[in-house]
Amino acid sequence: MKAIDAGGQFRSLRTVDSPAGPWIALNGRRVLLLCANNYLGLADHSRVKEAAKEALEQFGSGAGAARLVCGSHSLYDGLEARLTEFTKRESALIFGSGYLANIGVIPALAGKGDAIFSDEFNHASIIDGCRLSKAEVHIFRHNDMTHLDDLLGKNRSQGKNLIVSESLYSMEGDRAPLGKIVEIAKRHGAMTMVDEAHAFGCLGPGGRGLAAEAGSSGLPVDVVMGTFGKALGSYGAFVLCSRPVRDYLINRARSFIFDTALPPPVLAAAGAALDIIAEELWRTNQLAVNSARLRKELIELGFTIRGEDHILPVIVGAENEAVALSDLLLDQGVFVPAIRPPSVPSGTSRLRATVSAEHSEEDIRVAVDAFARSHQPVS
Ligand code: PMP
Repeated sequence: MKAIDAGGQFRSLRTVDSPAGPWIALNGRRVLLLCANNYLGLADHSRVKEAAKEALEQFGSGAGAARLVCGSHSLYDGLEARLTEFTKRESALIFGSGYLANIGVIPALAGKGDAIFSDEFNHASIIDGCRLSKAEVHIFRHNDMTHLDDLLGKNRSQGKNLIVSESLYSMEGDRAPLGKIVEIAKRHGAMTMVDEAHAFGCLGPGGRGLAAEAGSSGLPVDVVMGTFGKALGSYGAFVLCSRPVRDYLINRARSFIFDTALPPPVLAAAGAALDIIAEELWRTNQLAVNSARLRKELIELGFTIRGEDHILPVIVGAENEAVALSDLLLDQGVFVPAIRPPSVPSGTSRLRATVSAEHSEEDIRVAVDAFARSHQPVS
């Protein structure tokens, strides 16, 4: 604990007492929420809540056991069918969460004698999935396709080879060159898996994700992971893949086999959110408008911001300076926590600002004014 403290990395919990809207009650105070992954504002949407309520009344609060143990609820069939229809993929398999999907799918796809090629900035759940797999893991420099190509050329295994990346990086806010990754994979006979936690619902054609965009060039990503906990506003995750891979995962992914099924209201909420995304395109458009507005204003103030989409990493550097900036913003009623190691490399601590489609122009003005008053920008 002392080491955590000394490194400026001590973390503690803050209590929220309201829905995850653009404004929340944090430790009893109304603040502007500028850090949620509820990108489309669906976590508190009336239709989503109604669907959850109905499922609660009809089916109760819990599933009772894992899907292979006491039956897989028909809500799963419905939602998996809707996911395949929405994405035009062959099949879908729902997991308890994105974390569980990554630590289950990766070791199922690659094991002892196989090789995994993983981007250096991949999420902790991908890193843990790689570690659990017992495969040889090779880390390529972030988005560096020459390095990836080179690593595959030198370290390709005789067994299976798997390339894993995110599509929109959760802490960098930038996109992976998916078209290029798939092309390199095909050349080396490797499989591809892409984590779309932050892109699904927000980016790509109609919010179908960036793999859908890359796939339109005729080279589909083999396995796509998406979550319900971010743009879809509830909890859980899914994998899009071929039918044989789905069958294999049902039999081999330990976090699928040994984890209690999702509660019926959660499945119903995710289904309603998916319908809304398909029907209300203005949400993805508004998200892009809001993020472009905040990004432009913060850059004009002199802040260094990576990426180009709805994740805005405001790079500060030292851990304590990032915490100080976050505290100053909170004093002014704007909540953007500092992200420190081990979530990001040492010396690149940052404020990870995110917007939602439901932030108003006035909300963004409040955020910009607070940033302007809080800090001497770093360049
Ligand atoms: N992958 C990425 C890129 C993430 O950012 C997250 C969550 N922050 C996860 C996976 C895990 O998803 P979940 O929260 O559904 O477990």
